[in-house]
Formats: sequence, structure tokens, C-alpha cells
Amino acid sequence: MTRILAIGECMVEMAPMGVADTYKMGFAGDTMNTAWYLRRLLGTDHQVDYFTVVGTDSVSDQMLGFLEEAGIGTDHIARHVDRTVGLYMIQLNDGERSFSYWRGQSAARTLAQDDTRLENALKGADVAFFSGITVAILPKGDRARFLAILAAFKTAGGTVVFDPNLRPKLWESKEDMTSAIMKAAAVSSISLPSHEDEAEWFRDADSLATAARYAGAGARTVLVKNGPADILIHRDNAITTLSPEKIDAVVDTTAAGDSFNAGYLAALLQGASEKEAAAAGAALAGKVIRSRGALVAHAT
Ligand code: ADP
Repeated sequence: MTRILAIGECMVEMAPMGVADTYKMGFAGDTMNTAWYLRRLLGTDHQVDYFTVVGTDSVSDQMLGFLEEAGIGTDHIARHVDRTVGLYMIQLNDGERSFSYWRGQSAARTLAQDDTRLENALKGADVAFFSGITVAILPKGDRARFLAILAAFKTAGGTVVFDPNLRPKLWESKEDMTSAIMKAAAVSSISLPSHEDEAEWFRDADSLATAARYAGAGARTVLVKNGPADILIHRDNAITTLSPEKIDAVVDTTAAGDSFNAGYLAALLQGASEKEAAAAGAALAGKVIRSRGALVAHAT
């Protein structure tokens, strides 16, 4: 049995129904999206657990119910008595989507308050998956302890997988973001950045520069995604590239990166080579962006 622990924040999503003032409630969030796809792609010889904190209210109960129904393990999800889950709303203005967030005081922000809880959740796990958003939502005082626990997990033989997922609005400053992201990269075995996001903040000239920076920080494997452009695979200083299938009818790129990560990891865990795994990631992301929404069941 292989066990994967995804760590981060799942939010309530309110998505417009196309009828004035009517919204459909769902659940999404980068690391949860990846866990959701992983669960669908992997067999019963793999366990996918989620690590976060939710509230004690009924919407938190519904979120746990949603995860359980998806087959994602919830044993390591704690309850906060005074907080609840974060929420975002999608609005359509002339076909353009805009997002509003209520997540500043979410229960998930306390996920690294208790070291023992995270250490226990990582016991017996093979893979820990987290993102730049996981680190961004933590109070500054919790970040170093959180990363130290992941570093210890890696030293003990675990695989730490990190998607930097840069979200400048979640950080106090550019310096705060770039320094925390590179500290997170330093505890990772596999880094999965997107060049377009990275170039603006780290001034990387190309995907190779992005790969070199993450490899330099300590990752043995770096896969650099770049929208429709080539994926660069950097492993033990050898470099290969892969072109994603060209897609003319892109409908919604939400969760392209999250689903790519799941397709890649699932294939890797099932014995694929790095290049085969990257191709599996690109194939899944290619299906996901042909439909609306983050969680596209028929893509798997
Ligand atoms: P993120 O969502 O993290 O910004 P990217 O936009 O780099 O990630 O996309 C992740 C992956 O999704 C790419 O590596 C590629 O495989 C696929 N993808 C994204 N956009 C396109 C596109 N327009 N055409 C084909 N594949 C795409």
C-alpha cells in the first residue's frame, strides 16, 4: 500500500449557474484538486489522504462528506471550534470570469499549529504533496516548523512533492513570497513549477532557468510546465522536453496545473519513467481544460 498525504486548503466554491443570482456550491482548492484526481487515477493499492483544518459547522461537515465520497481519507483533518472553511465566488461579467475570496481567517490557516498532528499524519506516508498556497496561508511563525517537518520526512526516505503555485495576493510582499517559496523548494524532492508564473517574480529567462533554480534549491526532479509550450524535465542534471498535445478548443484552464500534477504523480507511482509520467500529466490536463470547472470527472 502506497500512501499519499496532500496538505493544504480546500474551499467552498460558489459558481454561477447562468441564471441571475443563482450559484452552485462545490469544493475546490489546488492541493485538494490534485488529491481528487490522484484518487480517481490510482487503484486500491494507493491511499490518498488530505491534511487540513475545517470548522465544526455544517458546511465543514459537507466538505468532509464530499472528500469521503470522493474516496479521499479524512482521518487527518482537524476541526477548529472558532473558525470555518474559506470560500470563493466566481462571477461572470460578459463571459469573463472573476474571483472573490473570503479565506483570510479560514480554519486551514491553522493547519501547522500543531507539529505532532502533522508528524502523525506523515507516519507511514510515502509521498507528501503541498504547494506555495499551503505555505502562503500559514502565519509566518508556523512556516519554518512546517517545512522542518517535511524536511525530516524527506530525510527519513519520504518523497516531498511541491507545486510553487505563486499567488502574489496571498503574500505580504514579493520578497516574502520569493524567499518562502525557495525555502519550501529546498525541502522538496520533486518541484513542479509553471514557467509563466515564475518568470515574472524570479526573472527567469526561460524554462531552463526555472528548472535550474529549483534543482539548485535541492529537488532531484524538476518539471517545468508552461501552458501550451514544451514541458521541461530536469532530473539529475539531464534535461528532456515534451510537447503537450495542441488543443484548439480550450474552454477553461482552471486546474490545468493541478490535474497535470496528479496525472504525472499517479503515473510515476505506477512505475512510469519521468517522460512517460509527464506525458500522462499533460494528457490529463489537456482533457481537463476542454471542460468547465476544476474537477472534471470524465477526464479520468
Ligand atoms: P498552471 O495551471 O499551473 O498555470 P500551466 O498553465 O503551465 O499550469 O499548464 C499545466 C499543463 O496543462 C501544461 O504543462 C500543459 O500540459 C497543459 N496545458 C495548459 N494550457 C494548455 C493549452 N493551452 N494547450 C495545451 N495544453 C495546455
